[in-house]
Amino acid sequence: MNAPNQSGWRPTMTLDRRDGGGTATGNRALMLEEPLIFEIGNTHTCGVDLPEPSTRANRLGGMARESEIGLPGLSEPETIRHYTRLSRQNYAIDLGLFPLGSCTMKHNPRLNEKVARMPGFLDVHPLQPVDTVRGALEVINELAVWLIELTGMHGVAMTPKAGAHGELCGILCIRAALEARGDPREVILVPESAHGTNPATAAFAGYRVENIPATAEGRVDLEALKARLGPDVAGVMITNPNTCGLFERDMKAISDAVHAAGGLVYCDGANFNAIVGRVRPGDLGIDAMHINLHKTFSTPHGGGGPGSGPVVLSEALAPYAPLPFVTRRADGTVELIEEENAGAEHPHTFGRMCAFHGQMGMFTRALAYILSHGADGLRQASGDAVLNANYILRSCEDLLDAPFGASGPCMHEALFSDKDFAEGLSTLDLAKGMIDEGFHPMTMYFPLVVHGAMLVEPTETESKAGLDQLILALRSLAERARSGDESLKTAPHFAPRRRLDETLAARKPVLAWDGPLAPAGTPTLSEQGGS
Ligand SMILES: *Cc1c(COP(=O)(O)O)cnc(C)c1O
Repeated sequence: MNAPNQSGWRPTMTLDRRDGGGTATGNRALMLEEPLIFEIGNTHTCGVDLPEPSTRANRLGGMARESEIGLPGLSEPETIRHYTRLSRQNYAIDLGLFPLGSCTMKHNPRLNEKVARMPGFLDVHPLQPVDTVRGALEVINELAVWLIELTGMHGVAMTPKAGAHGELCGILCIRAALEARGDPREVILVPESAHGTNPATAAFAGYRVENIPATAEGRVDLEALKARLGPDVAGVMITNPNTCGLFERDMKAISDAVHAAGGLVYCDGANFNAIVGRVRPGDLGIDAMHINLHKTFSTPHGGGGPGSGPVVLSEALAPYAPLPFVTRRADGTVELIEEENAGAEHPHTFGRMCAFHGQMGMFTRALAYILSHGADGLRQASGDAVLNANYILRSCEDLLDAPFGASGPCMHEALFSDKDFAEGLSTLDLAKGMIDEGFHPMTMYFPLVVHGAMLVEPTETESKAGLDQLILALRSLAERARSGDESLKTAPHFAPRRRLDETLAARKPVLAWDGPLAPAGTPTLSEQGGS
């Protein structure tokens, strides 16, 4: 491939993985082909041009590297272009609709960003003297008050750093409460319609997990749950709205039954976006529930930022909440409760979830979102999220099987199955086709209770015109899947890398470069089991 031509000119680089696309460079208009940094970099280029340092005694004590490190170097413009090109091959909520069910990929208002970047919030350090960060503590407290108000609960642990971390915090509170009354129990019941993190959390906390079946309607089977309750059951973990996109209507009856049997109720509140301002989990008898600030309260996620998963707690569990936390005194000041001063007023804490106070940047963003929406705006947001999902459900269900469509309206996400696809075509093929249509695919093969599930969550921040585009794409792909259009099997056709083997990539990731620049000792692709 690198043979000189008659003029003696020879390309410095060719890429044999190019699939052509009809251009000499492999670029397709504004979509530029981009090799790996190891393929374009070399060990003698550097982005800066500094004089050699004057010699100084080396203080590395014989640890100085003797061989070349092999890292690829690029000039500054080459570096910027490399990463800018890669970023343009990525999909983002700022590019288009991102209907990834259960993830609530909604617009992140720029007002939040502006507030989070105010120097007094941006530049605080967790080890600063408390007297210099009173404003930050006020923000944490103000957000805590809103979360308690919106959920009708008694207290909130603000420090957990994501939804799953919040689940662990809530389950540790449940365990501490049971141990405090001398009644440690072993089993956590998890319905089939729960999010996968729920059984993982219960198992991680040392509980045995038992499944509760779903009804034909896609909700928890209350009678089966009641039948399993007993003195060994520490509690239940229920996702509400559940992963079938349905509200668990029996939630109060479930809580009452669990409490009567001496257990506690954990609710996975990651889908709070569908009910905020309309349902207060505290009224449903829930003892602990995490809230994903990065979903419901629009702080960026999915590669754009860290999560934050505060856990609201009932009166029964609040005494066990982790340290540190912020509380408002009768004189109006806010105070930080930590190990040093917790003894008298918070003696039953189970410990800590993390070193400091949680995700400060997410707290400021979430509070900015809440205050700019107000109580009425939050209520409208959840209503619009549900309306948008139902618009998609009803606009597609003649072509795409909706397993629970007959159970009434859905909540914030619409669930479809591959039931009516032609032989040989699957959910994966339709999802890959969505990439060609310019959309991030929906969540696939989840929830597990539905064969070939497709979970579409539009969120409230999409316009009707945007939803209509998505529906157009879904209907066209559904027709192709029903009629057995074989070309779907090789979709996407217009993406820079066509169809990838994601299973292989996840199971046998190739994480080290073994080409010309690789440092000595790098395992080769075959040694890593890759291909
Ligand atoms: C997103 C989600 C979680 C996990 O939240 P993370 O912040 O990703 O840990 C748990 N349950 C449900 C229902 C979710 O949608």
